[in-house]
Amino acid sequence: MITLSTIKELREWRKSITPKALGFVPTMGALHAGHESLLKFARLRSEKVLLSIFVNPTQFSATEDLSKYPRTLENDLAMAKSVGVDAVFVPASSEIYPSNYSTYIIEEERTAPLCGKFRPTHFRGVTTIVFRLFHWAQPQFAFFGLKDAQQYFVIKKMVDDLDLGVQMIGVPTVREADGLALSSRNVYLTPKEREKAPLLYHTLQFALSKLLENNEWELIQEKSLSTLAEAGFRTQYLEYLTIPHLEPVEPGSRPPKFIVAYAGNLGATRLIDNIILGNII
Ligand code: AMP
Repeated sequence: MITLSTIKELREWRKSITPKALGFVPTMGALHAGHESLLKFARLRSEKVLLSIFVNPTQFSATEDLSKYPRTLENDLAMAKSVGVDAVFVPASSEIYPSNYSTYIIEEERTAPLCGKFRPTHFRGVTTIVFRLFHWAQPQFAFFGLKDAQQYFVIKKMVDDLDLGVQMIGVPTVREADGLALSSRNVYLTPKEREKAPLLYHTLQFALSKLLENNEWELIQEKSLSTLAEAGFRTQYLEYLTIPHLEPVEPGSRPPKFIVAYAGNLGATRLIDNIILGNII
């Protein structure tokens, strides 16, 4: 496994393996079994596998956790090696964003709801870094977790609109045994909050089963939100939206595929999770 730290090294490595089919897994590091699952899918599907580890400053707002975001590079590299990753791109922030950097990619449809409402500059940072990583790495396949479902649909739209020729592969959410979705941010939870955190997934499961039973979203939403509020969750949103456009489902109708998506805070930790029904493509 080779470690690349400059854009030039990445482009040269890409050239050296051409025409092999490259599978790419972009991450912010602090790797866990969710990331490992993406890497394993990539390993199965691709001739060569590239992992990037970069805590991308432009997707954090001034009040968010950029400086204290967990960084565990040594463990990350060991995990990557054990899965059979061929190359890891670990650039310095100054390599990606020189002080005069001023060009951004903005997707305007799917970034509007959900997290886009609460983190208005977040997806601009995500699409910009992913576009640039795709530009340098020229992958055939890119693997993204469906835990960040809105991110997946936004990047898919960017790939389609700009005809980037990258095949997007959405990987199911990996969870702890009690249902909590794995996240690098789970380390911020106190032991008490960690005990309560699985209630989020259980509430999403409750919402889905009720939807399938009676389709009365407003009542289900209200009941779900009050269950979570009682346990101390401070909700940002709980939405029932169509896939892939992420538009509100018309009251009373049942689209063939949909997402029930949540974001909120438990103590100081922002948790997101979702349940998807139907094919994501
Ligand atoms: P991050 O390092 O948080 O930016 O995540 C990098 C990639 O890993 C993204 O595509 C995430 O959606 C994915 N990911 C994060 N957590 C999970 C999980 N629990 N299951 C599957 N994929 C995940």
